[in-house]
Amino acid sequence: MAHLDAYNRPISYLRISVTDRCNLRCIYCMPPQGVTKRSHAEILRYEEIETVVRAAATLGITKVRLTGGEPLVRPGIVDLVRMLARVEGIDDLAMTTNAILLNDYAKGLAQAGLRRVNISLDTLRPERFERITRCGKLEEALAGMEAARQAGLEPIKINTVVIREMNDDEVVDLARQTLEPGWHVRFIELMPIGNSMAVEGNWRERVVTAREIQEQIEATLGALEPAKVLPGGGPARYYRLPGAKGTLGFITPISDHFCHQCNRLRLTADGHLRPCLLSEYEIDLRTPLREGADVEHIKTLILQAIERKPMQHHLDECQIPTGRVMSEIGG
Ligand code: SAM
Ligand code: SF4
Repeated sequence: MAHLDAYNRPISYLRISVTDRCNLRCIYCMPPQGVTKRSHAEILRYEEIETVVRAAATLGITKVRLTGGEPLVRPGIVDLVRMLARVEGIDDLAMTTNAILLNDYAKGLAQAGLRRVNISLDTLRPERFERITRCGKLEEALAGMEAARQAGLEPIKINTVVIREMNDDEVVDLARQTLEPGWHVRFIELMPIGNSMAVEGNWRERVVTAREIQEQIEATLGALEPAKVLPGGGPARYYRLPGAKGTLGFITPISDHFCHQCNRLRLTADGHLRPCLLSEYEIDLRTPLREGADVEHIKTLILQAIERKPMQHHLDECQIPTGRVMSEIGG
């Protein structure tokens, strides 16, 4: 049974940043020069991550997502998937990736026990992809997506961060992909976090709300129908265009925050447990792990994090967490 936090929310989901490194530099996630990389010694070892997941599983965490940074740039990632897939109690093991390396890894990940992938893709235009990611090739991401499909890492969800005057003119084109070839696309409101363009100047001007996106889509493609939540659907609200195979989701951390139903904890790449993405409070697990803490000891620290999970974020009061970038925390 999932453990309840102080606001009666069952905590059943752990997101793990396995590395702060990345092969892209998305404008809303990182500064142009990238972030100062943590040394290998600072990053949790796979055995340490496994201990945390074992402890979490005994507290009723059933779902784990590997993220980062880009999880596929960490050497041996398939081994980590194999280790975590064997942990009793974890029945949903997924990954969020930019897909650039999925062509090489999809099959191995599926064989090791990964269930599904979410793929971040903000545009269907090659030059724009290169501009937003500061270096990426769209064709590589699309090849990665196809490899994931062939490996059965489904349902694949596409995550699109919508930014005003950057890619907001593409929401209709992206929505069309739910008709053919039948993608599941989720639009995410830009969040002010880390040291990126997402916190510069008046960030609110760059946020395109789910409502605006929905209006644009409906004006061209017709009314959306409510759809069932996808497996591992998280905080998105799901819809479907009439007759579409794929779904459209909206994730609204800014215009309609979903803190009251938040069920997650995050483990940073350097081993700190963070009960809320948008609050700087963290508990250090790395020090006790390196001092020999066992599953029982780590369990007590996870319980502390659950008990200290804040009721909601405070962006409205301009409390913007800038201490860490998204890639370290695990977006
Ligand atoms: N590298 C992987 C990827 O891009 O899918 C995993 C890590 S990335 C930090 C996880 C997710 O966070 C991505 O879907 C990305 O679009 C999202 N993200 C990063 N910065 C964001 C921001 N400022 N606002 C909203 N979403 C953001
Ligand atoms: Fe890398 Fe993902 Fe951040 Fe883009 S969003 S820079 S792919 S970690």
